Amino acid sequence: MIDFNTQLYTSERAYVNEIANGKFVFFSPDNKGLPFVGELKVKQIYERYLNGQTLLNALLQDDLKNRNEALRLTKYLFDKGLLRTSPTPVRYSATEFPAPEKIKSLSTWFHINNACNLGCEYCFVNKDKSKMTREIMKQSLDRIYSTAIFRDLNSVTIKFAGGEPTLSINDMLWCYDYLTEKFSGKKIQLHFAILSNGTIQNEKLIEFLKRDNVGISISLDGFGEESHDIHRNFVKTKKGSWKIIMNNIERLIENGIKPYIMATISEESADTLPNLVEWIFKTGLRTRLSVVRQPNSTWENIQERKHEYKKLIDKMISAFEKAFTLLEHERFDLNLKYAMNICELHFEQPSYTATCGIATNHIVIQEDGKLASCPMTLKETNIEPTDDLLSSIRDTFKFNPEKRNEGKEKNCLDCNWFPVCTSGCPVNNSRVTGEAFTISPLHDFYAYVIPRYINFYGHKLLQKADKLNMQNKTIILN
Ligand code: SF4
Ligand code: SF4
Repeated sequence: MIDFNTQLYTSERAYVNEIANGKFVFFSPDNKGLPFVGELKVKQIYERYLNGQTLLNALLQDDLKNRNEALRLTKYLFDKGLLRTSPTPVRYSATEFPAPEKIKSLSTWFHINNACNLGCEYCFVNKDKSKMTREIMKQSLDRIYSTAIFRDLNSVTIKFAGGEPTLSINDMLWCYDYLTEKFSGKKIQLHFAILSNGTIQNEKLIEFLKRDNVGISISLDGFGEESHDIHRNFVKTKKGSWKIIMNNIERLIENGIKPYIMATISEESADTLPNLVEWIFKTGLRTRLSVVRQPNSTWENIQERKHEYKKLIDKMISAFEKAFTLLEHERFDLNLKYAMNICELHFEQPSYTATCGIATNHIVIQEDGKLASCPMTLKETNIEPTDDLLSSIRDTFKFNPEKRNEGKEKNCLDCNWFPVCTSGCPVNNSRVTGEAFTISPLHDFYAYVIPRYINFYGHKLLQKADKLNMQNKTIILN
């Protein structure tokens, strides 16, 4: 709450940029909420507080008839974090992972098998015939249930993964029935997601996907055979999987099922990114566009190969620039809030710990029932689970995000984008630098893509306003 005597300051972390004549995009990285567009008047009000100013003195600059509007805009800028009641601190402060009692949701990578029909060379799973037994499934689901009850959670998500989980459709169905029955009558939302390579389809799978709260995500490496099939070939025939996946996606859509596309862009597939996004949005799908974390798709000797990140990043910047430019065309009408996620970046909700739910509310249950922090660390920690998985989670990842505060040298805490990027993937960082919470090797890409996405967002907001004939509104939001 602010009153007329409140001293206000502009946030030095705010991003304000002119994206069209007299139209500015505004974004505050350390405040909840997405970018918005404002007129010159909004920027002028924002700038009144550059050196600190009481609300009263700022309003006295307006004549009587404009004072109410100035007050409304000042309050709006304050709510959006662009104005603050104290000068902007020199650095951000990182925080320790939240304690289990503060957490209200649990997301589980449920690693039901290790087998896969594709033989992608970069895959982090050691392919073998081992799979989760029914006994381990039951014990693990019981633990998920006891955690949800003990911690009074609001929601639980099970992500069936492997290997290729659709090779174990009967196991997924069994888990669904078992857990749904266990949770019946409880006020806890239950979601199921299948993380698939998209090559397998049958009636049983389609029927499963039509059930309540079940979704499917399909991984693609790029667009077209020349890109996707570089690595994604069938083990037995060595043939590419692209055509089959496209047919399967069409069939899913015919059945009213919209898969979520998890695209991982590498140096090899970067040139096809514009085609990929064009296809995704023309087809009415949603996506996460991720960037491979290791140059040349291999982790081998990564500490000696740091210099290779430059080429990877240059390729990514050029590919994403082409994709954004294409999508800025008015023929693409995107649901801005949901259509596209970029890597692990979070624009809507700032984070001061890690970019993902590692060590907090995301856990991997391996096929042997033991725990890992995330899919990239499968079989590395092998933590024994307890009946309170939210406590066990912390044991899977020993790094402390708060340690960043001790660093005297310039680090992510000195970066305006810290709450959006939070240093990127901590496992990637630890592999390359030995520390989880360091400046990411992909930093130059993040430093490009974050403001680029905000500007893109602003352009799409303006287009929407034009279509609705609302372009003269002082503030345009989604
Ligand atoms: S990795 Fe780079 S962009 Fe991300 S928070 Fe650190 S300094 Fe900022
Ligand atoms: S640590 Fe990295 S790979 Fe693992 S969940 Fe987080 S962002 Fe993803």
